[in-house]
Amino acid sequence: MKIDGRCHCGYITFEAEIEPDKTLICHCTDCQTLSGSAFRVHAFTRQDAFRLLSGEPKIYVKTAESGNRRPQAFCPDCGAHIYATRAGAGPKVYAIRVGSIRQRNEIAPQLQKWARSAQPWITDIEAMRKFDKEP
Ligand SMILES: [Zn+2]
Ligand SMILES: [Zn+2]
Repeated sequence: MKIDGRCHCGYITFEAEIEPDKTLICHCTDCQTLSGSAFRVHAFTRQDAFRLLSGEPKIYVKTAESGNRRPQAFCPDCGAHIYATRAGAGPKVYAIRVGSIRQRNEIAPQLQKWARSAQPWITDIEAMRKFDKEP
């Protein structure tokens, strides 16, 4: 599936070919801390199917629980998350942060990982009071 996206301020724009069936929710504590939210949603592409159209992301390398080093790309101006990948040489997979993708309404995650650190209320949000905009 062909997608395109941008950070919040528009400095970074990109396009990519993703595999929508591999889209997932990650409940790991790193995703929670990095996003300031309960989880992140990742869509996957190969490095050679990802094209940066403008801007230069800032890279923060986090060390995962496994010891793997994971470069995290985000906008240096607005801080929006763009993608993560692995360190080192060789072909890479990019985990694009679905919130940065323009077609995000058409992409639904297919599985959840790191469920052991999922916030306990996550399955109950359907029952919460809802407002279409700010209440
Ligand atoms: Zn930005
Ligand atoms: Zn995660």
